Amino acid sequence: MRKINEIFYSLQGEGYYTGTPAVFIRFSGCNLKCSFCDTQHENGVMMTDEAILAEVCKYPAKMVVLTGGEPGLWIDEAFVELLHSVDKYVSIETNGTRHLPVNLDWVTCSPKKGGALKVTHIDELKVVYEGQDISMYEGISALHYFLQPCSGKNTAEVVSYILEHPRWRLSLQTHKLIDIP
Ligand code: SF4
Repeated sequence: MRKINEIFYSLQGEGYYTGTPAVFIRFSGCNLKCSFCDTQHENGVMMTDEAILAEVCKYPAKMVVLTGGEPGLWIDEAFVELLHSVDKYVSIETNGTRHLPVNLDWVTCSPKKGGALKVTHIDELKVVYEGQDISMYEGISALHYFLQPCSGKNTAEVVSYILEHPRWRLSLQTHKLIDIP
């Protein structure tokens, strides 16, 4: 059984796969408490893997996004394999503080203050900019580096930083801009 906050179908709003249709599995709870956290993830119901799979398979998209809260609290290789068995592409959005199954297809890591990284592979590093020293993230190995304004409040500052540091790319919360989940 895994504690699920919600399962919904939408477009990925942020980062590398922006605009891609995906089934989102939002797990309940997180091991960090960020002041800017904008997701309601605490509530949840315990679901069997079969029930989760049945819900996911109601939708036609190949991509599944494991999110939260911190999905790393709830998943294992068997769960990822179950999603692979129905031909899903399994990505995760994690704060990076948990060891993750090695059979995930895509790892998006958003490191947070006070959360030591334990992930060993990152495809996409996505940093929410809240005025911190960004250079501390540049030693982290990843395929793609995204910088994202904090709740849309400091976009100009983020754009300016990226123009000066072109290794980074802009990630916007486009789902909020177009008012979808
Ligand atoms: S790591 Fe993410 S989900 Fe957890 S408290 Fe911070 S912003 Fe919220």
